[in-house]
Amino acid sequence: MPMTTKERTDMRKELVSLGYAWEYVDEWPARISYYVHREVKNPRGAVVRTVGTEVVGLPGLPTYAKEKAKQGLFPWPPSETCPCSWCRRSREATGEKISTPSEAAPAPRRRKVGPNYGAV
Ligand SMILES: [Zn+2]
Repeated sequence: MPMTTKERTDMRKELVSLGYAWEYVDEWPARISYYVHREVKNPRGAVVRTVGTEVVGLPGLPTYAKEKAKQGLFPWPPSETCPCSWCRRSREATGEKISTPSEAAPAPRRRKVGPNYGAV
């Protein structure tokens, strides 16, 4: 439902009193950043959008976000715990976690089963 001028003015006063910039209401809906969760290739197979790329200044509307989600764009960066289908599929396809800086060099794991288990 569209806002009346009075509602808009009141909304602006409230937002400004809470610390929003005066222009914010004029730029409604808010522009937010989306992150690429699905690698996009052109017809020749070259990668035109790599996973993790930030796309700035897109509308934050739920309806818009839904459409973008189908294309693999979400307002949060991809991660190994990301619940989106693209990240899940890529984890299943590679069989490994997307490495983050803190996990780039994981500690070697002890074998729990095998011919020498318990022999040491
Ligand atoms: Zn994801």
